Amino acid sequence: MALIVQKYGGSSVADAEKIKNVACRIAKTKEEGNQVVVVVSAMGDTTDELIRMAHQVSQQPQERELDVLLFTGEVISSTLLAMALGSLGCKAVSLTGAQAGIQTDSTYSRARILRVDPKRTVNELAEDNIVIVAGFQGVTSNMDITTLGRGGSDTTAVALAASLNADVCQIYTDVEGVYTADPRLVPEASKLDKIGYEEMLEMASYGAKVIHPRAVELGQLYNMPILVASSFSDRPGTIICKEASMEVKNKVRGIAHDTDVAKITVVGVPDHPGIAAAIFEPLAKANISVDTIVQNASIENITDLTFTVARSDLNKVMSIVEPVAKSVGGKQCVTDCTLAKVSIIGAGMQNTPGYAARMFHALSEQGINIQLITTSEIRITCIISEDRVKDAVRALHKAFELEIA
Ligand code: ASP
Ligand code: MG
Repeated sequence: MALIVQKYGGSSVADAEKIKNVACRIAKTKEEGNQVVVVVSAMGDTTDELIRMAHQVSQQPQERELDVLLFTGEVISSTLLAMALGSLGCKAVSLTGAQAGIQTDSTYSRARILRVDPKRTVNELAEDNIVIVAGFQGVTSNMDITTLGRGGSDTTAVALAASLNADVCQIYTDVEGVYTADPRLVPEASKLDKIGYEEMLEMASYGAKVIHPRAVELGQLYNMPILVASSFSDRPGTIICKEASMEVKNKVRGIAHDTDVAKITVVGVPDHPGIAAAIFEPLAKANISVDTIVQNASIENITDLTFTVARSDLNKVMSIVEPVAKSVGGKQCVTDCTLAKVSIIGAGMQNTPGYAARMFHALSEQGINIQLITTSEIRITCIISEDRVKDAVRALHKAFELEIA
């Protein structure tokens, strides 16, 4: 008997029919002799709708209230799913994040899980129940409701799986797995059977939407195998696990792209110790994640500092950076929201030269200008104009022969 944690995304439970379909899949898993814990997202666009409602009554809804409002989305889907299972004759019980022992810090709207106390879930399993846990939510030590940030149900699922010592965490969604590139841009993209945690983490952090990066990080930490597969078919999906691809000859595993990029350049700042800290410390305090950072070589002790953030953070970032830039003697702040990132990712890239050159060559053949470049050991990212993303991803997919992956 295996202990399986399954997660169903919002599109898999978007309406009553889909909830019933998911209930059948869960019932089947249970009938096969497994213990089943299910994490569920809010139905369809519920979370977006709730956010819209909040903004209809307030320009700046209190974060605490907003989290309680959003929490209800997953409560609806989890209770309906438990009812659908009941009508199939299955014993099922729904739990909120708090009831499932998911304790978080108190950063509303992007809380971090501090610990999971699985006692209640374990007891329900012992009673032969299927346990349906509302995703994306937790509770602080003060009993305030928190949410984990958009897409957070993946993180709930992996955290629960780790705390229960489950055999596998299965993430069911509306695509068939992890692809070598977004199939909407590259029709010949192929599905990967397996991918390592590190590679998947880079893919997810640099734009692949199929799984939330924090969930991959947790999977890696606890060595929990994660299956990503479709809730609408029975095809096998992609398994994310330890070191899947060491021997793969074509060492680029996938191309990721992300159009959620805003670039900020602080022009003409004095080049002396403390300037970068003065600019980035307040951003860190405001919990803003800064991605690419480039400081130019200085001319006559004056330099430019460029970095990127998510577009949704731009207003907040500017309200922090502009006054700081002024106070350290910067000339002006310039922003650009017409950019995108394209990345090549592969664990085999480390220790092997030539990947960067091949990437830049493929982009230059398309006449695509590279504005900024960043790398990790297993990733190279170029920032380019947003309107060339499709061409870039296609050219890179071809240059690295991923259609035969
Ligand atoms: N319902 C939340 C969202 O839409 C969490 C999730 O779907 O994972 O972001
Ligand atoms: Mg959702």
